Amino acid sequence: MGWVSVHQPVRPQWICAGRGAAWPCRTRKRQLVAEFTGARVSLMLHLSA
Ligand SMILES: [Zn+2]
Repeated sequence: MGWVSVHQPVRPQWICAGRGAAWPCRTRKRQLVAEFTGARVSLMLHLSA
């Protein structure tokens, strides 16, 4: 991947650095799901290779 998200948690408050909303914010949640899906797909490709 390599991109850096602005939607990082600000500790110890755990708010989004991008929006100041509770972390993970909506955008970050979507990014986390995308990362998880991508990892799962690459794992499946690895196992089936
Ligand atoms: Zn955010």
